[in-house]
Amino acid sequence: MIDLSGKVALVTGAASAGGLGFAGASIMAAQGASLFLTDLDGAAVEARAAELRAAGHKAAAMTQDVTDEAQWDSVRDAVLAEFGKIDILVNNAGIAVLRHMNEITAAEWHRQISVNLDSVFLGTRMAMAQMRAQGQGGSIINLSSVAGLFGLPGCGAYGASKGGVRLFTKSVALEVAAENIRINSIHPGMIWTDMQKVAIADNKDVYDQLVAAIPMRKLGEPKDIGNMVAFLASDEAAYITGAEFVVDGGMVA
Ligand code: NAD
Repeated sequence: MIDLSGKVALVTGAASAGGLGFAGASIMAAQGASLFLTDLDGAAVEARAAELRAAGHKAAAMTQDVTDEAQWDSVRDAVLAEFGKIDILVNNAGIAVLRHMNEITAAEWHRQISVNLDSVFLGTRMAMAQMRAQGQGGSIINLSSVAGLFGLPGCGAYGASKGGVRLFTKSVALEVAAENIRINSIHPGMIWTDMQKVAIADNKDVYDQLVAAIPMRKLGEPKDIGNMVAFLASDEAAYITGAEFVVDGGMVA
């Protein structure tokens, strides 16, 4: 039985009510965790924290650009001021730049890598140091994608960022395994969120190919990923690190 009582979780990219970050945050809150939510959209992420508080949970929020190194220090300080520690980090914030090589610009490439991969480096480094100082272990959960596992046309930049998250996770997990700091990646397939809606509008070819490739013939729901986040955050996953968890309706089976 998952029990996150007394745990403090920091979740990035948690502003969207129907997004994966808030899905994971809501499930962890229901299991007893205190939640600190961040996002570029400060008003929306504060509204999500208010929803959690209205449901009787402990929650706070802050505006954060996950690509800004200095802001990670500010977020750490704010979480410590609010809740005193960080037990769980979910590196969830992300964007999807789906462009074929004949149309993608260098600026788009750099933005994709910065938001999806540099942010995971910065967040993981901050959380590892904090968890080390606390001496009680911890769980870091990085949102990758099935696009980090196999190639797709139009996914050169997105796939590179998510494939980078996958191997970053595995390598760094080995550095801190003996300190009981666990780091794992989740690889969602097609989950119905704002990101998916935008991606589909941008590039229907990629969407059509992906839906045809889902053996369960349906998109996933945010809670399908949220449940995996809560599991990896919990002591039920105490012996799991450096692992990748595919939640995709059978796409990569
Ligand atoms: P979403 O677009 O609904 O939410 C992403 C959130 O990240 C937004 O609230 C956005 O404001 C925030 N964000 C973007 N850039 C930011 C920045 N620089 N700093 C802080 N916040 C920023 O997306 P989602 O579908 O909930 O996706 C969440 C994660 O899961 C992403 O990393 C995404 O790549 C990954 N993922 C999603 C799917 C899917 O099908 N939805 C599939 C595979 C992987």
